[in-house]
Amino acid sequence: MVKLMARERLYLFDTTLRDGAQTNGVDFTLADKLAIASMLDDLGIDYVEGGYPGANPTDTELFGTDRGFGTTFTAFGMTRRPGRSASNDPGLAALLEAKSDAICFVAKSWDYHVKVALETTEEENLASIHDSIRAAKAKGREVLLDCEHFFDGYKANPKFALACAKAAYDEGARWVVLCDTNGGTLPNEVESIVREVVKVIPGDHVGIHAHNDTEQAVANSLAAVRAGARQIQGTLNGLGERCGNANLVSIIPTLRLKPEFAERFDIGVSESALKKLAHVSRTLDERLNRAPNRHAPYVGESAFATKAGIHASAIMKDPATYEHVAPEMIGNRRKVLVSEQAGKSNVLAELERVGIKVDKDDPRIGRLLEVVKEREAIGYAYEAADASFELLARRTLGKVPNYFDVTQFDVNVEQRNNAKGQRVTVTMAVVKVRVGDDNMISAAEGNGPVNALDLALRKDLGKYQKYIAGLKLTDYRVRILNSGTEAVTRVLIESEDEQGERWTTVGVSPNIIDASFQALMDSIIFKLVKSGAPA
Ligand SMILES: [Zn+2]
Repeated sequence: MVKLMARERLYLFDTTLRDGAQTNGVDFTLADKLAIASMLDDLGIDYVEGGYPGANPTDTELFGTDRGFGTTFTAFGMTRRPGRSASNDPGLAALLEAKSDAICFVAKSWDYHVKVALETTEEENLASIHDSIRAAKAKGREVLLDCEHFFDGYKANPKFALACAKAAYDEGARWVVLCDTNGGTLPNEVESIVREVVKVIPGDHVGIHAHNDTEQAVANSLAAVRAGARQIQGTLNGLGERCGNANLVSIIPTLRLKPEFAERFDIGVSESALKKLAHVSRTLDERLNRAPNRHAPYVGESAFATKAGIHASAIMKDPATYEHVAPEMIGNRRKVLVSEQAGKSNVLAELERVGIKVDKDDPRIGRLLEVVKEREAIGYAYEAADASFELLARRTLGKVPNYFDVTQFDVNVEQRNNAKGQRVTVTMAVVKVRVGDDNMISAAEGNGPVNALDLALRKDLGKYQKYIAGLKLTDYRVRILNSGTEAVTRVLIESEDEQGERWTTVGVSPNIIDASFQALMDSIIFKLVKSGAPA
């Protein structure tokens, strides 16, 4: 008799915006945090930790308003300080004021740290855990406790480490999270220690927070699940201090696609959301203005690439011969470097993603593929710039009207003394536009050349002006690419309209103004297409 087991729920907790923000060189703005949180929400992540309210102005502002996410939006902070009451601790008060669904406290669980770092007693540390959780629960929050240095603490003094975890559970914390803060614990150790913990605290209240200092954060997370833990904390692309946190972008497909986990567990990421994972991973890198890791498991550009030869022909006969999972499952692509067919299916997949319907045998697909290849070779990044890709595709398919022509533009940057004798830099742009039979000239001053050009360009588009009135630029990113002999500049511009819809456009040129101009033009034309402006 076959016994069907109900699958258990495994929860995912993302800390990209809190622990991931500790990454060297990463500095999230409020707009970054909101965009990333909503991307994680769409993906189906159960908990999104937004930051540490009270610790910096961005996080305080982030938690100043109810953000209305579907995910359990979580604020992070410390338990009350030793020697203070819960009601007389400003840090705790800021945390309790934060507009969040859950609060994740961090507390010491290694006796050595309690003595040396906190300079307090074990009893006071336990009391602080009890008091803080009680205060948060009284405010109606779901509560988590991150047990800092849990594994090192357990090795030194298992009784005390367990007492800290148990204090949180007994006080009603939904999750007690075991943190490998130094990241030095190995999978077999994690597995055997978690097995001991779940004898005291039910596994469906136990989480794992692993760091990647021995390149085993993912393995450690899975080891904890094997031993009974039911929440995994991690970050997108393994962002995080030092060597990073457990990489959710690797963990998620493993949980969904590998039978050992897929047959036993349900996660919040659906099959269709999983198909966006490669896109999510690359979008985060673009936002951080860094090149995606080509060799990243599951989502990297090379993760399913095969060079021409024996492998490639075997793959064409049966992809399963050389692939551990199908790349389409995570929104990645098979790349057989000789195959025209593969390139064509990539373009078709892209078209479907932006919502353009076209027959797969349409000869124009081949032409579009050629154009995309040529342009990507000189630095365009269409994966990051949906709107520019959509325009390029529509143009190749003959579906973009010629709304207007910019017949000439001129940008002038001047440094001089003003009337008060101060040194100032003044930028002015003049743009000549032809709309139908009308010729128009607009001029604008800006705080820099791109800003001035943008203002002049959008000042007067005649009969199209009403369609772009609500358009604004929300982000501008520049990267210098070294392709061959000369450096070229890639500009990515993110725009937003009056309905809050966002899109990204790209421009590439050795000249930054020219690259910016291309991206600005694409943004305006995309908005006209989107609004159904008449030709
Ligand atoms: Zn951490």
